[in-house]
Amino acid sequence: MADNHSKEIRSMNMSHIRYKDTKPEIIVRSFLHRKGFRFRKNDKRYPGKPDIVLPKYKTAIYVNGCFWHMHDCKKFVWPKSNTEYWISKLTNNKNRDLKYYEQMKEKQWKVIVVWECEINESRLERLIAEIRGE
Ligand SMILES: [Zn+2]
Repeated sequence: MADNHSKEIRSMNMSHIRYKDTKPEIIVRSFLHRKGFRFRKNDKRYPGKPDIVLPKYKTAIYVNGCFWHMHDCKKFVWPKSNTEYWISKLTNNKNRDLKYYEQMKEKQWKVIVVWECEINESRLERLIAEIRGE
């Protein structure tokens, strides 16, 4: 078979495509959970309520949707109507994100951003290396 995705990930990708409400942060969380990581979800004590907080590694992971967080990728397209509203709203989101990351780094936390569009097996494996600082 040419497909080198594990069955696990493949079914995850498929469910992601089929059920549009499988949120990216849920995919990342269940992956980390299966790999034995312990974390907190949307911890309000930290700037921007990071999707995943790993106290042991002093690492915060923000799983970002490409639209809401204005990712520079193909998935991001400006809405055709209410353009001014969206420009101001999304630019604010983006600036706020950057501020949160800075605040976390000032507290000596490692910040990892995982984008919705890049979630696949190799990204998730790389994430583990990033968490462990390898
Ligand atoms: Zn993207």
